[in-house]
Amino acid sequence: MANIIDGKKVSAQIREQIALDTQKLVAETGICPGLAVVIVGDDSASKVYVKNKKKGCEQVGFYSEEHALPEDTTQQELLALLDRLNENPKIHGILVQLPLPAHLDEKTVIERILPTKDVDAFHASNVGKIMIGDYDFLPCTPAGVMELLHSVNIPIEGKECVVVGRSNIVGKPMAMLLLHENGTVTIAHSRTKNLSEVTKRADILVSAVGRAKFITADMVKPGAVVIDVGMNRDEEGKLCGDVDFVSVEKVASYLTPVPGGVGPMTISMLLKNTLTSAQNAAKKG
Ligand code: NDP
Repeated sequence: MANIIDGKKVSAQIREQIALDTQKLVAETGICPGLAVVIVGDDSASKVYVKNKKKGCEQVGFYSEEHALPEDTTQQELLALLDRLNENPKIHGILVQLPLPAHLDEKTVIERILPTKDVDAFHASNVGKIMIGDYDFLPCTPAGVMELLHSVNIPIEGKECVVVGRSNIVGKPMAMLLLHENGTVTIAHSRTKNLSEVTKRADILVSAVGRAKFITADMVKPGAVVIDVGMNRDEEGKLCGDVDFVSVEKVASYLTPVPGGVGPMTISMLLKNTLTSAQNAAKKG
C-alpha cells in the first residue's frame, strides 16, 4: 500500500515558517507583505479560491486586499486597477483569479501586472526566467508538487518523470521544475499515443489532466510515486483528483490524496512568493 503524502501537514509547516519570516521582516524593516486578489464576476469556484487565499494571508500575518469587480467590468477598468496596484507600495503580490469572463483578454491582463508583483508567475517575463532557471517566483502548483516530493525525500535526479498535461500553469512548468532537478522528463497530452505505455515508464508520475479516475492502476509502474494535481467532481459531486485512488494506492509507493494533497500547497506557494516579493522590495529600500 502506498504511503500517503500529507499536503495539509507539509503546507502547515511551510505557513508556520512564512509567519515567522513575516514577523522578522516587519520587525526589521517595517514592511508587511501585501497581496491583492482581483476577482471579476460571480464564478462560485473562483470565489472559494479567493476566500481561501484571503484566509491564508490572515494565517501568516500578511496584509491583503480583495477587489471583487462586477461581471461587466471593462478591460480598461481592470487594467486601470492593476496600474494602481502596481504603484501601491503596500502591495507586493497581485493575483487575478482566472478564468476571466470571456470579454476580457487574459493575456493582456496578465502582462499588465508588474513582473516583480506577479506572484502567480504567469507573466511571460517570469515564465522565461523559469525556463532559464533564474527566477524570483516559481508557479505555485508545480512548486507545491516539488515541495511535496522533497518532504518525503523522493530522489528526482536520473528518474523517469512523466507529466500528463501540458497547460501553461501546471503541465509545462511542472516538467521544467523536474528537469531543473535532473529528472528525465516526458510530457504527455491528449495526442499522446499509447498513453499507458508512457505513464508506466514513470518513476514519478504527475497527473494534471482534469478528469476523475483517469489514471488507473494498470497505467502505473509498481513502486512509482504518483502526484495527483487534478481537481474534479465525482458522480456524487465530491471533490476528487485524476487518480483512481483505490486501485492506484495498491501499486504506488507514494500517492497524494485529493483533497489534502497538492491543493493546500498551491496557496502556501503563493504566500511564499508574496513574502519573497516583499523581501526583495525591502532590499531595494
Ligand atoms: P487544462 O485543461 O489546461 O489542461 C489539461 C491537460 O490535460 C491538457 O494538456 C490536455 O492535453 C491534457 N489531457 C486532456 N485529456 C487527455 C487525455 N485523454 N490524455 C492525455 N492528456 C489529456 O488543465 P490545467 O492544467 O489548468 O489543470 C489540470 C487539472 O489540475 C484540473 O483538474 C485543475 O482543476 C487542476 N488544478 C489543480 C490545482 C491545485 O491547486 N491542486 C491548480 C491548478 C489546476 P491537450 O493539451 O492536448 O489538450
